[in-house]
Amino acid sequence: MCNWHVPVCVSCRINLRPKKNGVTFIEDDGIGNPYAIWDSDMWDCPCCGISVLTGFGKEPWRLHFDSDFHQVVEKEMNSEWTIRERPKQERKVENEP
Ligand SMILES: [Zn+2]
Repeated sequence: MCNWHVPVCVSCRINLRPKKNGVTFIEDDGIGNPYAIWDSDMWDCPCCGISVLTGFGKEPWRLHFDSDFHQVVEKEMNSEWTIRERPKQERKVENEP
């Protein structure tokens, strides 16, 4: 039995809708270098337009110590469906986990 619910937009109080499956997310190591490569799904809100990534697997499909890691990062960065995490020093938010 599946008790999963689709993501919800808090501002609009409606369900997000699936936009794209198989979006690559490149996690940053905190100081500007790729650390891990994740598969995810992109959802967006039909009302306000916010987009989120969710549906990550349990583990990344590549990690920084894998022999082909940098080639894979380079290849994935050529896709419009790859999101690279912004390094911490380029962010303006505080109290981020
Ligand atoms: Zn919304």
